[in-house]
Amino acid sequence: MLLGAVVLARSILVVIGSFPGDVSLLFVGVVIVFILTGATLIIPWNRIPLGWMALVPTLDIVAILIMWQSSPESSFGLLWIFPTTWLAGGFGLIGMYGVMIGVSGVFCVSVLLDPRQTVTYTTFLLPLVIVALAATSYLTARRTSAQRTLLARQAQLLRQVLERTRRQEQEVTEVLDAVDFGVIRIGHDGTIAVTNEAHGRLQQAILEAETDADSSATAYRDDGVTALPRDELPVERALRGEAFDGQVVWFGDPAGDRRALSVTARRVRDTSGRDAGAVVISRDVTSEATALRVRDDLVASVSHELRTPLTSILGYLDLAIDDPAVPESSRKNLEIAERNAERLLGIVADILAASSSSPSSIELSMSLADIDVADVARAAIESLVPRAAERAVTIDGSGLEPAHAYADPQRLRQVIDNLIANGIKYNRDGGTVAVGTTTDGRSTWILVRDTGVGISEVDRARLFQRYYRGNAVRGSGMHGTGLGLAISRDIVRAHGGEIALRSSPGVGSTFIVKLPAHQPAQEGADL
Ligand code: ADP
Repeated sequence: MLLGAVVLARSILVVIGSFPGDVSLLFVGVVIVFILTGATLIIPWNRIPLGWMALVPTLDIVAILIMWQSSPESSFGLLWIFPTTWLAGGFGLIGMYGVMIGVSGVFCVSVLLDPRQTVTYTTFLLPLVIVALAATSYLTARRTSAQRTLLARQAQLLRQVLERTRRQEQEVTEVLDAVDFGVIRIGHDGTIAVTNEAHGRLQQAILEAETDADSSATAYRDDGVTALPRDELPVERALRGEAFDGQVVWFGDPAGDRRALSVTARRVRDTSGRDAGAVVISRDVTSEATALRVRDDLVASVSHELRTPLTSILGYLDLAIDDPAVPESSRKNLEIAERNAERLLGIVADILAASSSSPSSIELSMSLADIDVADVARAAIESLVPRAAERAVTIDGSGLEPAHAYADPQRLRQVIDNLIANGIKYNRDGGTVAVGTTTDGRSTWILVRDTGVGISEVDRARLFQRYYRGNAVRGSGMHGTGLGLAISRDIVRAHGGEIALRSSPGVGSTFIVKLPAHQPAQEGADL
């Protein structure tokens, strides 16, 4: 096309001005160039092999030769640069060598054979330019094609990565939508970036359960009755950057239809360790929470009902044992019956205490005083010595130091009794239970160490839950309700203290009770 345009311009100049050469020869060359340009436009090149296209520049070379022959002094030879760039740039090495040899050969032969032309040093400048141009065009075309290939490969790679990312995203979405717990992804700027279908369902259920959707009082703490302030709602806490585990929240009026969610929030970090927001997971625990409450209510009412007839049985057994008319052999049986009835009463009392006990309800019934815990421990040891003797277990009270605490002596006795009784029960025959007390004037500690079976790590995490009994003792024939430690912890916490445990399975366990040494106000005065 470009060649056609240049030739057309030159032809117009010839028509306007005078031409010093053979006009008919020039005309033949021009016509050939025009025919070829027309052919270039008309022929559907994409349907025929690429090689045929080389015919056009090749014939152009001949046409230019004819035009040049019409007037060797004219600059028509320069037009060879068009087919040269085309052939060398478009047809690889063959095109390059072909055009170098072809054009230079045609040029040299015509110069040498033409008597009109004088050969000087500058005569061969044109073939040299053609050779250099062919080489440059070839190299440029190669580089361009290499870059194009590289770009195509990169584009393909990018497409694959994009496809893979899209697939992964889809898989993650499918998984998230398939699970039955709600997931919220909070971005580092506090915006909610992702939620799954289950979250939507839970939200919907909550809204349906709520009577007044705008009121923050429709959310309640895990006890189901204390209203939860808006800023303590799990999502609000997560937005503030808090991380927490299993916060139970009740939604809906206590008297109406309601839902309980257990919500966990975790902070997320990006690959460079910077804070990248949070993930909040919520699970519908309505049925579990309701079942737990129903169980506690049932247990409380059953054990309450059991207490009255049991007390009466014990009373009559007592009377019967004291009756001198009862023969000695029957008295022994009655005493066994009395011991078991007492045990039963103890269990019933424990169950009742557990089902009505929360640290707050214990607190209400406590009568606190400044006491020496060593005295309480000593009394507990004394009462348990007979039980220890049955299994040849020694109770070592040598570690009892005078240690004051601000506590309810009866409640504390319950705790120490429980710990020592466990120390005996879960000991080996002939083992030891060591009891110690100490204080630093601010806190007071009670230690109960045994040489028993010890407690596995799995059990340690759940030991203080109500009704939980260790794997090793379940089905071993050892009696128990799994309530003693739960009640003990509630009592200790109601005192503002804590109970901890260290244990090596097979070696023994140590329970450590920490209590405040003084009344809180007094402690402030001390400071
Ligand atoms: P119970 O003794 O009635 O089962 P507790 O609440 O007192 O209930 O104890 C819960 C569980 O903790 C027990 O079932 C037992 O597996 C474990 N446990 C408690 N104290 C000890 C101890 N000193 N050594 C080993 N295991 C213990």
